[in-house]
Amino acid sequence: MYHHIKQLMYTVNVGTPDPRFGNMLLEQFGGANGELAAAMQYTIQGINCENAGIKDLLMDIGTEELSHLEVVGTLARAHLKPMKNRAESVDSDPLIVIAGGGGVCLHNSAGNPWTADYLKITGEVEVDLRSNIAAEARAKIVYERLLGYTDDAGTLDALNFLMSREITHMKSFQKALDSIGRDIFSIGEVPPMKEVVNVYFNDSTGRGEAGSDERGPWNEGADWDFVDAPGFPSVTPLAHDGEAGGAAAHSRAGRTGHGVIPKPHQPGR
Ligand code: MN
Ligand code: MN
Repeated sequence: MYHHIKQLMYTVNVGTPDPRFGNMLLEQFGGANGELAAAMQYTIQGINCENAGIKDLLMDIGTEELSHLEVVGTLARAHLKPMKNRAESVDSDPLIVIAGGGGVCLHNSAGNPWTADYLKITGEVEVDLRSNIAAEARAKIVYERLLGYTDDAGTLDALNFLMSREITHMKSFQKALDSIGRDIFSIGEVPPMKEVVNVYFNDSTGRGEAGSDERGPWNEGADWDFVDAPGFPSVTPLAHDGEAGGAAAHSRAGRTGHGVIPKPHQPGR
């Protein structure tokens, strides 16, 4: 059950309206990482969730995101309102002037309509929580960027509040994921194939202006079976210093690991 209270979650005071900035704010109203997307994603995940604690968390944050939607919508409206009667405002976005009359609509900053395709809902709580941690990180960085495009003190204040709450939510989602107590690389019930799960394919090779092969914890150490360029032998590389096939020969010689690419399981065979 929803109940609306005629009070904003955070004060919105706009000193100097800026229709261009109001249009940018719509990214957090009807955009991919905006407040409606967050509210719908968490609330619907909450409806699907069977873990009592995490269900409560999802409904709490999903509902708070609706309050954020109201704050950012009010903020955008305050900036867009002057568009209504100012011909020069059409430059900012004709759609808002002609169709919206200076009001907010469920569009992003480029005028694209909001879509449920933005939502990441899998029905698997530990997968959904990972999507939510990433969603909060994206929302945080969009707010941070918006902060750079206005000097209005009241607007900066409200945006700082909204940005800060995304970190709060990211923290709750991460702690909720930790509370499940599973290995972080364990998803679902079916275990991955032992022969392939720890194989790292060095599929982008070479050294030059476009980069070089790098090693790090993502491909190095006892956990990893590092296999050099499995597709490389079938490609004829450009020869260096007149030494035809030199690079290919070197690559094959430098191959590490078992050098065998296990064939994927083919059902029915
Ligand atoms: Mn939010
Ligand atoms: Mn949030």
